[in-house]
Amino acid sequence: ADNQIFEAVDQFIDGLFGSEDQALIRLRQRAAEAGLPHIEVSAGQGKLLYLLAKLIGARRILEIGTLGGYSGVWLGRALQADGELVTLELDPAYAAFARTSFNEAGIGSQTLILPGPALASLASLTGPFDLVFLDANKDEYPEYLAEAARLLRPGGLLLADNVVRKGAVLDPLADDPLAKGAARFLAELSAHPQFEAIVLQQVGLKGHDGLALAIRR
Ligand code: SAM
Repeated sequence: ADNQIFEAVDQFIDGLFGSEDQALIRLRQRAAEAGLPHIEVSAGQGKLLYLLAKLIGARRILEIGTLGGYSGVWLGRALQADGELVTLELDPAYAAFARTSFNEAGIGSQTLILPGPALASLASLTGPFDLVFLDANKDEYPEYLAEAARLLRPGGLLLADNVVRKGAVLDPLADDPLAKGAARFLAELSAHPQFEAIVLQQVGLKGHDGLALAIRR
């Protein structure tokens, strides 16, 4: 019953503040037709990404975990006119899907999708980035944290999704590499000399989870 009220309020909030344009609606339809996993951010979470990117006047954004480009379209829409979104995706089929998403959203020329394992792509990237959004495999979040510290400008914003995992992060089971990755990431982030950070616990359409926010010193 608790979940129902959280979901209903989330739907209410998204209805007021998270309305999707034609490109995002079409992206969802294509994703359903193509059978993409339904693990993209919610509309309201997309709006939060968009607002945070706008707030810092982001010109260069790095995303790890593109999937079909849903969060990428929200982030891309927040870019300055001369801005760029670089987004990393393991699965070449998802990367191709996202290419179409970005083109249809009118941000094709501002987006670079690098297919393959993120750690390999990261090694080829140079900063500075204004914003880094982690939303890929959680077991490598600690490695992505080190790369974010290297690539973000001072004052840049690090965001990391799915760091609460229904509370599993409190006491990760040995056979839960994702919760273990999130726990290790939060421990390292909290002690990291180059970041000031907090976690927002979230409930709603995506269940019970959380978003870490950190500023690069
Ligand atoms: N950010 C997307 C959105 O909200 O629309 C959702 C991303 S989805 C939760 C996670 C993505 O990370 C998947 O598409 C998966 O293929 C990708 N991924 C998993 N392991 C990866 C890796 N080692 N390198 C790059 N991408 C990876």
